[in-house]
Amino acid sequence: MSIASPSASSSAPSRPPLPFASRAEHLVGSVIDSSVAMLAAYDHDIVKFGMGAPAPDMLPAEDFARLANSVFTPESFTYGETQGEPVLIDALLNYLQETGQIPAEHFGNRDRLVITTGGMQGIDLGFKLFVSPGDLVLCEAPTYTNGSATALSYEAEIAEVPVDDEGMQVDALEDIVARAGRAPSVIYTVPTFQNPAGVTMSLARRQKLLDFAHRHNSVILEDNPYGTLRFSGEDIPSLSQLSPNDPLIFGVRTFSKFVAPGLRIGWLDIDPQLRGLVINAKQTMDSCTSLPTQHMVAKWLNDGNAETHVAHLRSSYGERKATMTAGLERLFGDEIRSTDPDGGFFLWVTFNDETINTEDLMPVALEEGVAYIPGPAFSQTGDFTNALRLCFASAAPDRIEDGLQRLRRAVDKYTST
Ligand code: PMP
Repeated sequence: MSIASPSASSSAPSRPPLPFASRAEHLVGSVIDSSVAMLAAYDHDIVKFGMGAPAPDMLPAEDFARLANSVFTPESFTYGETQGEPVLIDALLNYLQETGQIPAEHFGNRDRLVITTGGMQGIDLGFKLFVSPGDLVLCEAPTYTNGSATALSYEAEIAEVPVDDEGMQVDALEDIVARAGRAPSVIYTVPTFQNPAGVTMSLARRQKLLDFAHRHNSVILEDNPYGTLRFSGEDIPSLSQLSPNDPLIFGVRTFSKFVAPGLRIGWLDIDPQLRGLVINAKQTMDSCTSLPTQHMVAKWLNDGNAETHVAHLRSSYGERKATMTAGLERLFGDEIRSTDPDGGFFLWVTFNDETINTEDLMPVALEEGVAYIPGPAFSQTGDFTNALRLCFASAAPDRIEDGLQRLRRAVDKYTST
């Protein structure tokens, strides 16, 4: 088991001699988010496989431009209800029911949904409610470190649970807990089309994870931004679907990946018993999520856009993933191992040559005109030095091909020096 040191994967910001709270020591930077500013500093063409954002041609910007005028009314320029605009909650509940994304037991139950300012706010609310300083939080390794960093910001101790092709290795949990000498308050997981590995937790493991959580009274923070984006294979029910009316499951969802991240709208799917506390916690953060944006999203859903849009995303991302896996196979062959996701945004590539350090390779790759996120960005302990994450969603197939050829050149240059 590795207990994370707070600044393992990021440079520590400067600290003037001020009376900082103890939690300020635990605010680690996100390598993923800072890559946006880093790329802005380059003025040559770069194929962006780094950030997990939909490609500009996949964003329904024109739909929203048409809707914008109709929501810019005085009513949407004031404060709203903290739990979200009723019109959005109703539209969202309809969408989730029609697409079978919630169990039948929850149909019609508006009290399960709380609108958040992106999935990140949902994650923050979960850890804020359930983590006291020194609590144990289990995270996948590799994991979405913006999630684990949020646990650290509440002064959690993180234990990492390895991930393989079937997701989190749930059989390792009891040993980890025995070694830590205490049960986790929260288990943070991205079980479906995981970020960064793209893998999906099997049904058997989901059931074991639920058993484990019930045995130890641990909350499962189920972060599920990519679940709608399956392009192959059979659907596997989310943990929330598998265990309806379960207060131990804190479901975090977002519109960022299947509509647009710039909207900054997400939602929680939680047991209504938690609603009051969640609302109190959100009030101390932002009072309410942006009203004009909530009204736009509600109209977009009510106009029936989601189904065709998501179908388009699924087929395009399926094609992009196939282009990427074929290109990797052709250009890198048995130099690498790669995951083969059935949905979502990401591939996880590991070089068989363990001396390849993807952080050191990065400047060479950027010079050649291709960006990715190095493996150590996905662990608070800085592991995975010979791995990298590639996002196949952000570039059209011909750009993917081009980007992989640039990556090939970068690896050749790097290994020849
Ligand atoms: N969780 C995971 C696993 C993600 O990949 C992301 C986005 N990269 C988020 C949460 C954050 O979502 P949002 O942009 O809606 O805050």
